[in-house]
Amino acid sequence: MNEVEVNEYASQVLLGITSDLNENFYSDKEGELKFFWSQGAVNAWAESEYFESHKPIHKIVMTYELVNSLYLFSKAYQNFMIGNQDSEVFISLYENMSIKPRFPEFDIPEEGAKNMFLGAITWIYFHEFGHLNQEHGYIKQKLGNVGHSAVSFFEAYNDSGSASSEDFSMSHAFELAADFEATEYCITELARHFFTREEFLGESEISDESREQFLNAIFIFVSGLSCAMYLFYGSEKREKSKTPTGSHPDPLRRLGSAIPHLIERMDILRSFNPAMLSTSREDLSSLCFGASDSYGFFWNLVVETKDIESAVHTANDPFFVSYWSEIIKNWDLINAEVIGVRHFGSPLGVLRFSEHFRNRVFNSN
Ligand SMILES: [Zn+2]
Repeated sequence: MNEVEVNEYASQVLLGITSDLNENFYSDKEGELKFFWSQGAVNAWAESEYFESHKPIHKIVMTYELVNSLYLFSKAYQNFMIGNQDSEVFISLYENMSIKPRFPEFDIPEEGAKNMFLGAITWIYFHEFGHLNQEHGYIKQKLGNVGHSAVSFFEAYNDSGSASSEDFSMSHAFELAADFEATEYCITELARHFFTREEFLGESEISDESREQFLNAIFIFVSGLSCAMYLFYGSEKREKSKTPTGSHPDPLRRLGSAIPHLIERMDILRSFNPAMLSTSREDLSSLCFGASDSYGFFWNLVVETKDIESAVHTANDPFFVSYWSEIIKNWDLINAEVIGVRHFGSPLGVLRFSEHFRNRVFNSN
């Protein structure tokens, strides 16, 4: 696709989702969601006019620059994978993974990059929708005790020099909560796309081909999400922060927590009907981290900054306890409020931390 076709395709997808959300959700509450394009730096944002139980009037904006970059890098990553995934270097790099990262084959090669791009733009769109659905701006203003005006969430990283560590922790909690909604929506949509209701309920048999295509789609989705996160990461190496700092969490920490969330979400699918997934949990983890790690490898070559890490698997995060204890403490303070104002969707879209995760954070000694 050339630039014009990329913009046309993205418009068709995102305006289509906006219209579905209006029809299925907003119209019942006499609210409205609008989507706009903008020009300028690689960015996306959300605006809400919500105030005290009023109807939801929401707006999501993305820049042409963002979608064009996402498509260019998706295409470049696909070419990189096809050219290198069978090489000795590549095979030895991932020898410990039970499934090696591999870009799936498509009858029409361009469909690969296009699907990856689709994963990236829908995840970003639903991240913005997550901020709006949970009225993060409204809650933020309420906590800060300031007068109301329309609130925006800009996705450009901002180090907010004068903000307090509490502000940073709360901002990061909001970002991770919006990420959680986004992953939930994307996985639900992917499952809906690949399985019929009868297959989901175990009333009709699932073919090996459908299962394989579903796993390929998961690989492509995680590659698309990685593409977005490395784009937000940029070309300069960032030091991992011990506690929440700046407006947004480190993109690789976000990626490293979105993947386990996706794997947990798959466990829920599996509990409904084990026939939907042909892989073990370990293999699924290899598949997803293989997608993000190979994207990280590709990104290092693109930006020529050799030491950018891959997604921080929480088990390897040196600041796991100090970082996540701040996030959980802050999220626990606003969780009930978020659930109270949240407009739409399954409760599965609300950020939660398992007992196992909490124990790792608070009882690690
Ligand atoms: Zn955000």
